[in-house]
Amino acid sequence: MTQRAPPLADTHCHLFAPQYEHDLTEVLARARTAGVDKILVPGLDLETSRQAVELAEEHPEVYVAVGVHPHNANSWTAAHTVSLTELARSPKVVAIGEIGLDFYRNYSPPQEQEYAFRGQLELAAALDLPVVVHIRAATEPVLDILCEWVDNVPAGVQLRKGVLHAYSGDRRGAERATAYGFFLGIAGPITYPNAPDRREITAGIALERLLVETDGPYLAPHPHRGTRNEPANVAVIADKLAGVLASETIHVAEVTSHNAELLFRWNHGSSD
Ligand SMILES: [Zn+2]
Repeated sequence: MTQRAPPLADTHCHLFAPQYEHDLTEVLARARTAGVDKILVPGLDLETSRQAVELAEEHPEVYVAVGVHPHNANSWTAAHTVSLTELARSPKVVAIGEIGLDFYRNYSPPQEQEYAFRGQLELAAALDLPVVVHIRAATEPVLDILCEWVDNVPAGVQLRKGVLHAYSGDRRGAERATAYGFFLGIAGPITYPNAPDRREITAGIALERLLVETDGPYLAPHPHRGTRNEPANVAVIADKLAGVLASETIHVAEVTSHNAELLFRWNHGSSD
């Protein structure tokens, strides 16, 4: 007997990237065939945030996070809050992101990254939106800032928290983040033969705290590693995650889709 698989959500894919320019229609068709019924597209700066909103207006399965990536933090000014607030008026905008710290590349100076990150956390709280967080070589500093954000929430404000996307930190960081109510995004590296640590850390986290994502066009899962990644591949990641958790793919799809709905509330408009 074949059971109809529950839909999957790819909670992180940069569909505006030039890598999708020529065949986006086919990419979205393959996603649908793979059971992916929601795709979150996070902006990297104002321009790509705007492009993501345009894509979401054309494609019902596409939702958006608007924000300035740590690589572009040196462009951040207070005026950005006004532009992002305007973009966030679209009902397809369900988060602020991607924001965070990247002390590996340091394309923007660390102080400017921190300034943009804190500014956008405040904005997320003001707009009642969750955050999509990018972390590279900065797990501790990001968690210090996120925990401070949660601990100092103004009276009467209910933070929606967020997801640490493509989580690549250690077990301690994973435990600290989930204890504070954040989700962890599981991406392609969980499938890499040479990344047993990713599987080990993930196995220690409750499925109720996990989301799946491709991070396309990057981080294609094994055996597609090195090629362009796309939302259909989130099925490969869900499958691997099921193996790591000694669970079933159907269950993983069901729970991670539910988690994504809790965080992004994308069915909100239609379900109540
Ligand atoms: Zn990203």
